[in-house]
Amino acid sequence: MDLGIAGRWALVCAASKGLGKGCARALAGEGVNLVINARGAEALEATATELRRHAPGVEVRCVPGDVGRTEVRTALLAACPQVDILVNNAGGPPPGDFRAWGREEWLGALELNMLTPIELIKATVDGMAERGFGRVVNITSSAVKAPIDILGLSNGARSGLTGFVAGLARQPRLASRNVTLNALLPGSFDTDRLRKGLGDDQGKVEQWLQAIPAGRFGTAEEFGAFCAFICSAHAGYLTGQNLLLDGGAYPGTF
Ligand code: NAP
Repeated sequence: MDLGIAGRWALVCAASKGLGKGCARALAGEGVNLVINARGAEALEATATELRRHAPGVEVRCVPGDVGRTEVRTALLAACPQVDILVNNAGGPPPGDFRAWGREEWLGALELNMLTPIELIKATVDGMAERGFGRVVNITSSAVKAPIDILGLSNGARSGLTGFVAGLARQPRLASRNVTLNALLPGSFDTDRLRKGLGDDQGKVEQWLQAIPAGRFGTAEEFGAFCAFICSAHAGYLTGQNLLLDGGAYPGTF
Protein backbone atom coordinates (compact mmCIF):
# COMPACT_ATOMS: atom_id res chain seq x y z
CA MET A 1 0.00 0.00 0.00
CA ASP A 2 1.29 3.45 -0.89
CA LEU A 3 0.82 5.53 2.27
CA GLY A 4 0.57 8.74 0.24
CA ILE A 5 3.01 10.79 2.33
CA ALA A 6 6.14 10.84 0.15
CA GLY A 7 7.74 14.30 0.12
CA ARG A 8 6.19 15.38 3.42
CA TRP A 9 8.29 16.55 6.39
CA ALA A 10 8.26 14.88 9.79
CA LEU A 11 9.73 15.99 13.07
CA VAL A 12 10.57 12.91 15.14
CA CYS A 13 11.73 13.57 18.69
CA ALA A 14 13.98 11.20 20.64
CA ALA A 15 14.77 9.19 17.53
CA SER A 16 18.36 7.93 17.72
CA LYS A 17 17.24 4.61 19.21
CA GLY A 18 14.27 2.46 20.08
CA LEU A 19 10.69 3.37 19.25
CA GLY A 20 11.44 6.87 17.95
CA LYS A 21 14.03 5.47 15.57
CA GLY A 22 11.55 2.79 14.45
CA CYS A 23 9.07 5.55 13.55
CA ALA A 24 11.73 7.61 11.75
CA ARG A 25 12.87 4.58 9.74
CA ALA A 26 9.35 3.63 8.67
CA LEU A 27 8.53 7.21 7.67
CA ALA A 28 11.79 7.50 5.70
CA GLY A 29 10.87 4.27 3.93
CA GLU A 30 7.69 6.02 2.76
CA GLY A 31 9.69 8.91 1.33
CA VAL A 32 9.12 11.33 4.22
CA ASN A 33 11.89 13.88 4.89
CA LEU A 34 12.99 13.99 8.50
CA VAL A 35 14.22 16.20 11.27
CA ILE A 36 15.37 13.88 14.05
CA ASN A 37 16.51 14.60 17.57
CA ALA A 38 18.17 13.01 20.61
CA ARG A 39 20.56 14.26 23.27
CA GLY A 40 23.59 12.23 22.18
CA ALA A 41 24.91 13.81 18.96
CA GLU A 42 27.06 10.86 17.92
CA ALA A 43 24.30 8.24 18.06
CA LEU A 44 21.96 10.69 16.35
CA GLU A 45 24.39 11.18 13.42
CA ALA A 46 24.87 7.41 13.18
CA THR A 47 21.10 6.96 12.95
CA ALA A 48 20.85 9.68 10.32
CA THR A 49 23.51 7.92 8.23
CA GLU A 50 21.60 4.66 8.56
CA LEU A 51 18.32 6.32 7.54
CA ARG A 52 19.91 7.98 4.49
CA ARG A 53 21.22 4.59 3.41
CA HIS A 54 17.79 3.03 4.01
CA ALA A 55 15.98 5.73 2.01
CA PRO A 56 18.45 7.49 -0.29
CA GLY A 57 15.84 9.89 -1.68
CA VAL A 58 14.91 11.53 1.60
CA GLU A 59 16.55 14.40 3.42
CA VAL A 60 17.48 13.74 7.05
CA ARG A 61 18.44 16.64 9.32
CA CYS A 62 19.74 16.26 12.88
CA VAL A 63 19.11 18.53 15.84
CA PRO A 64 20.89 17.23 18.94
CA GLY A 65 19.75 18.27 22.42
CA ASP A 66 17.25 17.64 25.18
CA VAL A 67 13.78 18.08 23.66
CA GLY A 68 12.60 19.30 27.07
CA ARG A 69 14.62 22.50 26.56
CA THR A 70 12.99 25.47 24.87
CA GLU A 71 16.02 26.34 22.71
CA VAL A 72 16.22 22.76 21.38
CA ARG A 73 12.54 22.83 20.42
CA THR A 74 13.08 26.18 18.69
CA ALA A 75 16.01 24.69 16.74
CA LEU A 76 13.94 21.62 15.83
CA LEU A 77 11.13 23.75 14.43
CA ALA A 78 13.59 25.98 12.56
CA ALA A 79 15.23 22.94 10.92
CA CYS A 80 11.93 21.68 9.49
CA PRO A 81 10.63 23.60 6.42
CA GLN A 82 7.10 22.68 7.48
CA VAL A 83 5.94 20.14 10.02
CA ASP A 84 3.42 17.83 8.35
CA ILE A 85 4.00 15.02 10.82
CA LEU A 86 5.00 15.41 14.47
CA VAL A 87 6.08 12.40 16.52
CA ASN A 88 6.40 13.37 20.17
CA ASN A 89 8.71 11.17 22.18
CA ALA A 90 11.28 11.41 24.99
CA GLY A 91 12.74 9.23 27.69
CA GLY A 92 10.32 8.13 30.37
CA PRO A 93 10.49 9.40 33.96
CA PRO A 94 12.28 7.17 36.48
CA PRO A 95 10.39 4.57 38.55
CA GLY A 96 10.12 4.85 42.33
CA ASP A 97 7.97 5.31 45.41
CA PHE A 98 5.85 8.47 45.29
CA ARG A 99 6.86 9.20 48.91
CA ALA A 100 10.37 9.88 47.67
CA TRP A 101 9.35 12.38 44.99
CA GLY A 102 9.26 16.08 45.66
CA ARG A 103 8.05 18.98 43.59
CA GLU A 104 11.20 18.92 41.48
CA GLU A 105 10.73 15.31 40.35
CA TRP A 106 7.10 16.00 39.48
CA LEU A 107 7.95 19.16 37.55
CA GLY A 108 10.66 17.26 35.63
CA ALA A 109 8.20 14.59 34.52
CA LEU A 110 5.51 17.11 33.66
CA GLU A 111 8.01 19.23 31.68
CA LEU A 112 9.32 16.37 29.56
CA ASN A 113 6.34 14.08 29.16
CA MET A 114 3.43 16.50 29.14
CA LEU A 115 4.38 20.13 28.53
CA THR A 116 7.08 19.48 25.90
CA PRO A 117 4.73 17.64 23.52
CA ILE A 118 2.04 20.26 24.18
CA GLU A 119 4.48 23.06 23.24
CA LEU A 120 5.38 21.31 19.97
CA ILE A 121 1.71 20.65 19.21
CA LYS A 122 0.95 24.33 19.85
CA ALA A 123 3.70 25.40 17.47
CA THR A 124 2.59 23.14 14.61
CA VAL A 125 -1.12 22.27 14.46
CA ASP A 126 -2.46 25.57 13.17
CA GLY A 127 -0.03 25.46 10.22
CA MET A 128 -1.11 21.88 9.55
CA ALA A 129 -4.75 22.98 9.54
CA GLU A 130 -4.03 25.84 7.11
CA ARG A 131 -2.35 23.39 4.72
CA GLY A 132 -5.11 20.77 5.13
CA PHE A 133 -2.89 17.93 6.33
CA GLY A 134 -1.34 17.09 9.69
CA ARG A 135 -0.55 14.07 11.80
CA VAL A 136 0.50 14.17 15.44
CA VAL A 137 1.54 10.96 17.14
CA ASN A 138 2.39 10.99 20.83
CA ILE A 139 4.36 8.00 22.07
CA THR A 140 3.05 7.48 25.59
CA SER A 141 2.73 4.11 27.37
CA SER A 142 0.40 1.23 28.13
CA ALA A 143 0.60 2.63 31.67
CA VAL A 144 -1.89 5.30 30.56
CA LYS A 145 -4.51 2.55 30.27
CA ALA A 146 -3.25 0.19 32.98
CA PRO A 147 -1.18 2.19 35.46
CA ILE A 148 1.96 0.62 36.94
CA ASP A 149 2.42 1.62 40.60
CA ILE A 150 6.18 2.27 40.51
CA LEU A 151 5.75 4.44 37.41
CA GLY A 152 3.66 7.08 39.16
CA LEU A 153 5.50 9.98 37.50
CA SER A 154 4.84 8.47 34.08
CA ASN A 155 1.21 7.56 34.89
CA GLY A 156 0.53 11.12 36.02
CA ALA A 157 2.39 13.13 33.37
CA ARG A 158 1.30 10.99 30.43
CA SER A 159 -2.33 10.96 31.57
CA GLY A 160 -2.20 14.76 31.69
CA LEU A 161 -1.02 14.83 28.07
CA THR A 162 -3.63 12.26 27.10
CA GLY A 163 -6.47 14.30 28.61
CA PHE A 164 -5.32 17.49 26.91
CA VAL A 165 -4.99 15.82 23.51
CA ALA A 166 -8.40 14.16 23.85
CA GLY A 167 -9.97 17.61 23.94
CA LEU A 168 -7.77 19.19 21.29
CA ALA A 169 -8.15 16.40 18.73
CA ARG A 170 -11.91 16.97 18.71
CA GLN A 171 -11.71 20.66 17.87
CA PRO A 172 -13.50 20.99 14.51
CA ARG A 173 -10.93 23.55 13.32
CA LEU A 174 -8.36 20.72 13.40
CA ALA A 175 -10.41 17.57 12.74
CA SER A 176 -12.25 19.09 9.77
CA ARG A 177 -8.92 20.20 8.25
CA ASN A 178 -7.42 16.70 8.12
CA VAL A 179 -5.29 17.21 11.24
CA THR A 180 -5.30 14.16 13.49
CA LEU A 181 -3.82 13.66 16.95
CA ASN A 182 -3.42 10.15 18.33
CA ALA A 183 -1.29 8.34 20.87
CA LEU A 184 0.54 5.06 20.55
CA LEU A 185 0.71 3.16 23.83
CA PRO A 186 3.62 0.70 23.83
CA GLY A 187 3.46 -2.35 26.03
CA SER A 188 6.81 -4.19 26.10
CA PHE A 189 9.09 -3.43 23.16
CA ASP A 190 12.57 -4.77 22.75
CA THR A 191 14.58 -1.57 23.10
CA ASP A 192 17.60 -0.48 25.16
CA ARG A 193 15.22 0.93 27.75
CA LEU A 194 13.40 -2.36 28.23
CA ARG A 195 16.63 -4.39 28.27
CA LYS A 196 18.18 -2.03 30.82
CA GLY A 197 15.13 -2.46 33.06
CA LEU A 198 15.22 -6.25 32.81
CA GLY A 199 19.00 -6.60 33.16
CA ASP A 200 20.74 -9.95 32.51
CA ASP A 201 18.29 -12.02 34.55
CA GLN A 202 16.88 -14.54 32.02
CA GLY A 203 14.39 -15.77 34.65
CA LYS A 204 12.97 -12.26 34.92
CA VAL A 205 12.70 -12.05 31.13
CA GLU A 206 10.82 -15.36 30.97
CA GLN A 207 8.47 -14.25 33.74
CA TRP A 208 7.80 -10.99 31.94
CA LEU A 209 7.08 -12.80 28.68
CA GLN A 210 4.52 -15.03 30.39
CA ALA A 211 2.33 -11.97 30.92
CA ILE A 212 2.27 -11.27 27.16
CA PRO A 213 -0.11 -13.51 25.18
CA ALA A 214 1.96 -12.94 22.02
CA GLY A 215 4.84 -14.64 23.88
CA ARG A 216 7.41 -12.08 22.75
CA PHE A 217 8.41 -8.47 22.97
CA GLY A 218 7.34 -6.08 20.24
CA THR A 219 9.92 -4.74 17.80
CA ALA A 220 10.73 -1.13 16.96
CA GLU A 221 10.14 -2.02 13.29
CA GLU A 222 6.51 -3.06 13.85
CA PHE A 223 5.93 -0.06 16.10
CA GLY A 224 7.31 2.20 13.36
CA ALA A 225 5.20 0.59 10.64
CA PHE A 226 2.06 1.20 12.69
CA CYS A 227 3.10 4.79 13.31
CA ALA A 228 3.66 5.34 9.58
CA PHE A 229 0.15 4.11 8.83
CA ILE A 230 -1.35 6.48 11.44
CA CYS A 231 0.58 9.25 9.68
CA SER A 232 -0.59 8.16 6.24
CA ALA A 233 -3.01 9.82 3.85
CA HIS A 234 -5.43 6.94 4.59
CA ALA A 235 -5.74 7.63 8.33
CA GLY A 236 -7.49 11.01 8.22
CA TYR A 237 -10.63 9.72 9.94
CA LEU A 238 -8.76 8.41 12.99
CA THR A 239 -8.27 11.03 15.67
CA GLY A 240 -8.26 11.38 19.43
CA GLN A 241 -7.45 7.70 19.91
CA ASN A 242 -5.12 5.88 22.29
CA LEU A 243 -3.87 2.83 20.47
CA LEU A 244 -2.41 0.05 22.54
CA LEU A 245 0.34 -2.12 21.03
CA ASP A 246 1.05 -4.74 23.67
CA GLY A 247 0.77 -8.25 22.22
CA GLY A 248 -2.53 -8.75 24.07
CA ALA A 249 -1.15 -8.02 27.56
CA TYR A 250 -3.98 -5.68 28.59
CA PRO A 251 -6.71 -7.96 29.94
CA GLY A 252 -9.80 -5.78 29.34
CA THR A 253 -12.40 -5.79 26.57
CA PHE A 254 -12.05 -2.04 25.92
P1 NAP B 1 15.19 3.92 24.25
O1 NAP B 1 15.42 2.70 23.45
O2 NAP B 1 15.99 4.12 25.49
O3 NAP B 1 15.38 5.18 23.29
C1 NAP B 1 15.12 6.45 23.78
C2 NAP B 1 15.49 7.49 22.72
O4 NAP B 1 15.08 8.76 23.20
C3 NAP B 1 16.97 7.59 22.47
O5 NAP B 1 17.18 7.96 21.13
C4 NAP B 1 17.39 8.72 23.41
O6 NAP B 1 18.62 9.27 23.00
C5 NAP B 1 16.20 9.65 23.26
N1 NAP B 1 15.94 10.56 24.38
C6 NAP B 1 15.75 10.23 25.68
N2 NAP B 1 15.51 11.33 26.40
C7 NAP B 1 15.55 12.38 25.55
C8 NAP B 1 15.38 13.78 25.70
N3 NAP B 1 15.13 14.33 26.90
N4 NAP B 1 15.48 14.56 24.60
C9 NAP B 1 15.75 14.04 23.39
N5 NAP B 1 15.91 12.72 23.19
C10 NAP B 1 15.82 11.91 24.26
O7 NAP B 1 13.66 4.03 24.75
P2 NAP B 1 12.32 3.45 24.07
O8 NAP B 1 12.08 2.08 24.61
O9 NAP B 1 12.34 3.66 22.62
O10 NAP B 1 11.22 4.38 24.77
C11 NAP B 1 10.69 5.54 24.15
C12 NAP B 1 9.54 6.06 25.02
O11 NAP B 1 8.52 5.06 25.08
C13 NAP B 1 9.94 6.36 26.47
O12 NAP B 1 9.24 7.48 26.94
C14 NAP B 1 9.46 5.12 27.20
O13 NAP B 1 9.17 5.38 28.56
C15 NAP B 1 8.21 4.79 26.42
N6 NAP B 1 7.83 3.38 26.59
C16 NAP B 1 8.62 2.40 26.12
C17 NAP B 1 8.24 1.07 26.31
C18 NAP B 1 9.08 -0.10 25.79
O14 NAP B 1 8.68 -1.24 26.00
N7 NAP B 1 10.18 0.11 25.15
C19 NAP B 1 7.06 0.78 26.99
C20 NAP B 1 6.27 1.82 27.46
C21 NAP B 1 6.67 3.13 27.25
P3 NAP B 1 19.56 10.09 24.05
O15 NAP B 1 19.65 9.27 25.27
O16 NAP B 1 20.86 10.26 23.31
O17 NAP B 1 18.86 11.40 24.27
